Amino acid sequence: MKYDVVIIGGGIVGLASALKLLEKQPKLKLALLEKEAQLAQHQTGNNSGVIHSGLYYKPGSLKAKNCIEGYHMLLKFCDENNIAYDLCGKVVVATEISEIDRLHDLYNRGIENGLEGLELLDEKQLKAIEPYLAGIQGIRVPQTGIINYKDVCTKLAKKIEENGGEVSFIYPNQGQNHLGDTDFEDNYDCIGIICFDIDDNNIKIEEDMNYDIEMEKVILYQDDW
Ligand SMILES: Cc1cc2nc3c(=O)[nH]c(=O)nc-3n(C[C@H](O)[C@H](O)[C@H](O)COP(=O)(O)OP(=O)(O)OC[C@H]3O[C@@H](n4cnc5c(N)ncnc54)[C@H](O)[C@@H]3O)c2cc1C
Repeated sequence: MKYDVVIIGGGIVGLASALKLLEKQPKLKLALLEKEAQLAQHQTGNNSGVIHSGLYYKPGSLKAKNCIEGYHMLLKFCDENNIAYDLCGKVVVATEISEIDRLHDLYNRGIENGLEGLELLDEKQLKAIEPYLAGIQGIRVPQTGIINYKDVCTKLAKKIEENGGEVSFIYPNQGQNHLGDTDFEDNYDCIGIICFDIDDNNIKIEEDMNYDIEMEKVILYQDDW
């Protein structure tokens, strides 16, 4: 098979990038390859499930900008695709006097980052939110939410396929994995063997599958090795 772009890694970054590319270039012939039997089996499916508000990052930094833009893009995607989430808010707590200055810095940083509705809370107000909480001061951040990122990935994959892309799973085995000359951990989860030959734009998935693909570009999002 011949593709314009092949993305390796079916976590949220690979999937979201694949869909964005297809939306921008509907005629693109794109495939996404995942080594596990299901999507989002690594960081994405095992993270804390928090929708971050962008409180912590240095105002004006790329991280702050990306986090806040990503926050709004994620909520829009969920609203448009009926994916459940809960903007339950969170509290950031100082448990000792020595932490108060840092807490106030964080509060100011949140305001500079454009977060609305931040509240500085005293001990009594904190206890009213969470009786088991031990803190002397806190910040309530109403924008923070929780979500199941596996649900987001399932929907992303469905939309990739609806937009003409392919999501494929590489046959799992217990062998070694090679990407070019790089060996990664022996017998690490279920890894097939990928041989990536950059010179002739060819990825070969060897052994278990007789699966040969050619592409113009390959994008690697297999974060975990
Ligand atoms: C403990 C922890 C908690 C976190 N909590 C949050 C949170 O609450 N909120 C938040 O927004 N972010 C959180 N993050 C960050 C977030 O989870 C990651 O930034 C995000 O999941 C990274 O996605 P990814 O697609 O890059 O990586 P991954 O989800 O790890 O995806 C990489 C994919 O590549 C596949 N792969 C690897 N090698 C190959 C290969 N050779 N061939 C084919 N496929 C391959 C893997 O199987 C995997 O599916 C947390 C991170 C950690 C570690």
